[in-house]
Amino acid sequence: MKVLLALGGNAMTNVDGRARPEDQIAAAEAAMEAVAGLVAAGVDVVVTHGNGPQVGNLLVKNELAAAVVPPVPLDWCGAQTQGTLGFVLMDALDASLARRGVDKRSAAVVTRTRVDADDAGFTSPTKPIGRFLSAEEAGHLMDHGETWQDRGEKGWRRVVASPEPLEVIDAPAVHALVEAGFVVIANGGGGIPVVRREDGVLEGVEAVIDKDLGAALLARSITVDVLVIATDVPNAVLHYGTPEAAPLGRVTVAEMRGLAAEGHFASGSMGPKVDAVCRFVENGGGRAVITNLDHIVDAVTGEDAGTVVVPN
Ligand code: ADP
Ligand code: MG
Repeated sequence: MKVLLALGGNAMTNVDGRARPEDQIAAAEAAMEAVAGLVAAGVDVVVTHGNGPQVGNLLVKNELAAAVVPPVPLDWCGAQTQGTLGFVLMDALDASLARRGVDKRSAAVVTRTRVDADDAGFTSPTKPIGRFLSAEEAGHLMDHGETWQDRGEKGWRRVVASPEPLEVIDAPAVHALVEAGFVVIANGGGGIPVVRREDGVLEGVEAVIDKDLGAALLARSITVDVLVIATDVPNAVLHYGTPEAAPLGRVTVAEMRGLAAEGHFASGSMGPKVDAVCRFVENGGGRAVITNLDHIVDAVTGEDAGTVVVPN
């Protein structure tokens, strides 16, 4: 059995949201302990991860150091977080595998994902990133070509394109490493966004790809059996945040699309996860699960855990 596990920001930071190096290492150790359990049970696991807090931190460094060292573009931030988190996850995973006496090693792949240069996000960016700034500070960055929006009381926030992921360029490398017996970490942050120029050359672009939609695409590209999206809640919830709130268990993909259309899942958080699990199953995937880290082993083995989406 082959599984793609997508780890949310909560799996990479302290429970209170802190992201000091030691917090990230501790969170990675907890997550990779669960992954090692799956690997020990004979499952081929590919891991992907979010990078929102980490990219946010890099953007602050860009801003504060701009007068001394040149700021780097968003695709570079994505690549840097794939490298750092890949390294942290490999250390944690190799240690967990060694403790269990499992003769397997990890490998992290810097992964590019192709997007369309004509994606609507490039003309009307919608994805908020980084910290809030004053109107004056934001104005200075807008002079340098960035798009910032007035978010009221909290201040101004940068918005960037979040284009549709079309092709995981490095999926064949991921596939080959899995076949060779590695536990692979890939497509972090949804992949480094690149476009293909008219001369065929790939080029990074200023954008961020949704991690969960990127995970669904990679999962299909390397034909995994199960896609597991691990976040900080055990289930997707109907009537979330109301007295009628009810955790959602097993549904068909048609039922899930219907519930999404009724507006049960918030657009910036649970919405893309629901979209991702539906896409995976609609494109031929066998089963997709949204749950938290505590339930990922059950989610893979098919126990009654999390929100499970199956073909109609
Ligand atoms: P991650 O960082 O793991 O990718 P997000 O923070 O983006 O996760 O999304 C998970 C969050 O989505 C939950 O912590 C919860 O606050 C929120 N959420 C919004 N709508 C729902 C819903 N219908 N059911 C469950 N959680 C929801
Ligand atoms: Mg989160």
